[in-house]
Amino acid sequence: MNKLKMLAAAAIAAAMLPVFPTYNAEATDAEDSSLRCDVNGDLTIGAADMVMLSRYLLGAQGITAAEAERADCNGDGTVDAFDLVGLREQYVYNCSHIPQGTWIAEDMNGTRYFWFDENREGTFTRCDNGTLTPFRLTSTGGKLTFALSSGAPTGAAISWTDDTHFSLKWDGAGLENFRYVSDVRFDKGPYLSGTYVIDGREKEISFGTNYSASLSGKSFNVLPQRDAVWFLYDDGTSEAASFSRTDKNHFVLKWQDGRTANFTRREITVKDGITCVNGILVANKTYSLPSTYDPKGLTPEFSKAFTEMKNAAADDGIGLTICSGYRSYSYQKQLYENYVAVDGKAAADTYSARAGHSEHQTGLAADINAAEEWFIGTPEAKWLDKNCWKYGFIIRYPEEKQDITGYIYEPWHVRYLGKENAKLVHDSGLTLEEYLGIDSKYAY
Ligand SMILES: [Zn+2]
Repeated sequence: MNKLKMLAAAAIAAAMLPVFPTYNAEATDAEDSSLRCDVNGDLTIGAADMVMLSRYLLGAQGITAAEAERADCNGDGTVDAFDLVGLREQYVYNCSHIPQGTWIAEDMNGTRYFWFDENREGTFTRCDNGTLTPFRLTSTGGKLTFALSSGAPTGAAISWTDDTHFSLKWDGAGLENFRYVSDVRFDKGPYLSGTYVIDGREKEISFGTNYSASLSGKSFNVLPQRDAVWFLYDDGTSEAASFSRTDKNHFVLKWQDGRTANFTRREITVKDGITCVNGILVANKTYSLPSTYDPKGLTPEFSKAFTEMKNAAADDGIGLTICSGYRSYSYQKQLYENYVAVDGKAAADTYSARAGHSEHQTGLAADINAAEEWFIGTPEAKWLDKNCWKYGFIIRYPEEKQDITGYIYEPWHVRYLGKENAKLVHDSGLTLEEYLGIDSKYAY
């Protein structure tokens, strides 16, 4: 079989594979696995519990402390005939109430949603892997049967805690707890988790894995739905915006009234004084390296990629050499202080970095051929600008971006990002600062 046919066969096999509403009983916290009115502790409320409680109340049998706690249906601290009434009411409620709307399964990191419509049809949705399994529901007593379009039916006993919470006891598995989210249908939609900045760098929004979100200290729910995102606020209002992804770190939302917002993923981690944004090591005017950060030269990744680029350029008749590569903290300190002595601080800051703020200290940046104005517009500069991304580099300080990068145009200064990130940044047409939603400004 050729490769294409094999891929097609694999795709068909994957599509036909029955997708069950997999639920791992082991994932259930034993502490949470108790239901009020479930006297015998089998995680369902039924006739057996009523018989057990009746026999206890008639003095025919004793019960354990744990059983007594669960048997106290009305929570008044004593087990008596009122609890038997409560147990019957609970049982009737469980039998007569079928969920509707969108419900989040609170276990499994909140990545699983259930949709129940009024015709007893619905879907299980896994947001993290994008699977969507339709089902048809039948209900007999407190027992639900999910007939999956993809395979055999699976059963679960339902127990309601209140109008917005219920638990399912899956056949052969533990309890799964559900919380009401919305009457808006949740469907296979964009996966949103992570921290983003909106329209530049001002506002930061965090999307949790359980589709909670927080913005400016306010929490609310977000519900991705096909190519839209619903925002569900605490006051009961909601709004929907259409979703379109620009690349893996960027998306745009457009609301019905025409407002749009650009979202840039920005996960900042600082370890030993070294800042990474979305996994990319950053040294600029905002983010500095500690004086102890010392790769002792250009990194092997940089050197390997540079050799590849140099050879490709040579094939085009272009000669590339490194005129300034790695610079230590102390060397940069000396260099900067010399420039300040000659040109003054304000001027020096436009073309030379303060110690700790130079990208040359990362071992991932270098100046090619000549770090001087005459290099601008040469065939070598043009070749670099056009081709460096193919080898994992970007021109770090592009023309007319001084207010963003903090530096004047430097067509000779390349930064190694790796091929995937270099292509993403190149294709975006943005500077690295814009691409990552960060600033480059001295704080002092
Ligand atoms: Zn440089």
